[in-house]
Amino acid sequence: MEKTIAIIPGDGIGPEIMAQTLQVLDIVGRRFGHTFRYEEAPMGGNAYERCGEPLPQSSVDTCLGSDSVLLAAIGGPQWDHLPAEKRPEAGLLGLRRALGVFANIRPARLYPELAEACPLKPEIADQGIDFVVVRELIGGAYFGEHKSGLVNGVETASDLMAYSEHEVERIARVAFDLARQRQSRVCSVDKANVLASSRLWRKVVSRVAEDYTDVTLNHMYVDNCAMQIIRAPGQFDVILTENLFGDILSDEASMIVGSIGLIPSLSRGASTLALYEPIHGSAPDIAGQDTANPLAMIRAAAMMLQYSLDMAEEGRAIEQAVSDALRLGLRTADIAGGGPAIGCRAMGEKIRTLLAV
Ligand code: NAD
Repeated sequence: MEKTIAIIPGDGIGPEIMAQTLQVLDIVGRRFGHTFRYEEAPMGGNAYERCGEPLPQSSVDTCLGSDSVLLAAIGGPQWDHLPAEKRPEAGLLGLRRALGVFANIRPARLYPELAEACPLKPEIADQGIDFVVVRELIGGAYFGEHKSGLVNGVETASDLMAYSEHEVERIARVAFDLARQRQSRVCSVDKANVLASSRLWRKVVSRVAEDYTDVTLNHMYVDNCAMQIIRAPGQFDVILTENLFGDILSDEASMIVGSIGLIPSLSRGASTLALYEPIHGSAPDIAGQDTANPLAMIRAAAMMLQYSLDMAEEGRAIEQAVSDALRLGLRTADIAGGGPAIGCRAMGEKIRTLLAV
């Protein structure tokens, strides 16, 4: 097969982890007889430096014209002073909107090989951690009206958290469909005791559940969910939640399975075009040091092969190579627990060697 992949290396550690990932894909292509064509789509701080915009239209067009989109990460303190619409994050939000990707799917699974990297007590971790966070991605407070200014002479700011029935229904269906492929359990997370948008959320999710009588639904407040993820993570199968809560809960989930540097995510909308990325940011504190963990990015590519490019076996081969590398004891600094660590390039090279056999 021949596939065109739009690639967004981004900022910070982005280009380092993307380089390792593309080399992994090249090995997959060689082993399985595919050709991957990469088309770079600048986005984020680097795009602002080059074109004065964090998301040039040409990048949107490149993404829309490709079979899939692979994004590393964007952002950095050097762009913090820019007005909101010029900041790297505006590029990311704009891309999600342009691609219409309203559902973000983030798996949290503890590799047995990494049990020692789990900060929870062994008796909790031993119950198994294997759940997926389904996060609404283009609504809620991140996309509501942002206001700041003087009110009665006092500096004031507000962010509107708004959801429509339609927005809740379509993300709920993604979660219920996914649950059917797993253990058929959905936990919908909201703050319905305080927020009007959460009360609508709960009402619509409950209604959608009537179409999925084979799936068990329960509702949980977000503060309780944050506790339950560390108290008894084994209880979860699919966690369904809105944008802001999902952002925070999925980072928490990433910590209990070892590192933010391990978790990929998939974002999709109504069309077949999906966006694959690690859940972490551009990690400016370690950029250029060859210490970043490339595994979340490499696993994002594996997810892309499985879910967008009809290459399930190829995706599984990458996942197997990642498991094998961890079983062999190979660790980047973020998962080494102070023990011996290898760099980003060495980890990428090891994955390629394991894949090539
Ligand atoms: P971050 O995820 O970049 O970093 C948090 C911590 O995790 C840092 O200590 C970092 O060194 C570490 N880390 C992250 N990825 C790692 C990896 N692959 N290997 C090893 N360690 C890793 O979050 P942050 O520091 O809050 O944000 C930094 C920048 O990234 C900001 O500009 C932020 O806006 C941006 N950001 C971008 C995205 C995205 O592109 N999707 C997501 C989150 C944050």
